[in-house]
Amino acid sequence: MSDLTKTPAGRTTPMVKAEAVHKSFGAVEVLKGITLEVNQGEVFVLVGPSGSGKSTFLRCINHLEKINAGRLSVDGDLVGYRQKGDRLYELKDREVALKRRDIGMVFQHFNLFPHMTALENIIEAPVQVKGESRSAAKERGMALLERVGLAEKAGNYPSQLSGGQQQRVAIARALAMQPKLMLFDEPTSALDPELVGEVLDVMRGLAEEGMTMIVVTHEMGFAREVGDALVFMDGGVVVESGSPREVLGNPQHERTRAFLSKVL
Ligand code: ADP
Ligand code: MG
Repeated sequence: MSDLTKTPAGRTTPMVKAEAVHKSFGAVEVLKGITLEVNQGEVFVLVGPSGSGKSTFLRCINHLEKINAGRLSVDGDLVGYRQKGDRLYELKDREVALKRRDIGMVFQHFNLFPHMTALENIIEAPVQVKGESRSAAKERGMALLERVGLAEKAGNYPSQLSGGQQQRVAIARALAMQPKLMLFDEPTSALDPELVGEVLDVMRGLAEEGMTMIVVTHEMGFAREVGDALVFMDGGVVVESGSPREVLGNPQHERTRAFLSKVL
């Protein structure tokens, strides 16, 4: 039987496909035609100077912003729309909420619920959004805490955890919804240097397990070792892309070289 997720070339449907994606805020165009593909199981690294549109692009993928032009799809489904025949219907809020469950997002500033323990943070969405039983959610939550190396911190509140520990809880919380795609927006930028490694190690483990990940980061060592593909963005456009080794080792554009000389 033919596998419907295979394209004629025999490849699987890309997890994310962006075709000439444009996004403006008022008169300011922030994304000026982004075209790229993220394959299933790939670690896709997005780098670029501050203000180049990286966060905006992640927010578009995650239904937090609506694109103005172009096409954006996740796992073969257009973001924000349902296609029926050749007509497009905008998704209702309820439908958007369902789609967003499949995408995990980790932010620079952890954003844990401060009045909940680590374990409570993790089980909140599975219980409230998916209707999982508390006992089942707790069991899975503990397994996730184990996986990020924090089983013994289950009862701690965020204020009782280091930044690196908080970020690992935030990753576990995102994983609790069993997403098919994880978005990381500068997950280590707010951390003291000695805490960066423990978070990158968790991300490396996820990559090894085959999670599809888009990672915005300035950690070029991580990009080179773990990344399968890398895009350098500047001013709302993709300036260059390729394997991390190619782009970091032999950048073709002056803008890429200028950026890399600052972060490497
Ligand atoms: P990056 O993550 O690469 O630093 P951002 O996507 O955060 O870049 O921002 C790109 C540009 O879009 C910036 O100039 C920023 O000020 C602008 N921008 C982002 N979000 C908004 C918004 N909600 N309203 C207006 N401008 C925005
Ligand atoms: Mg950003």
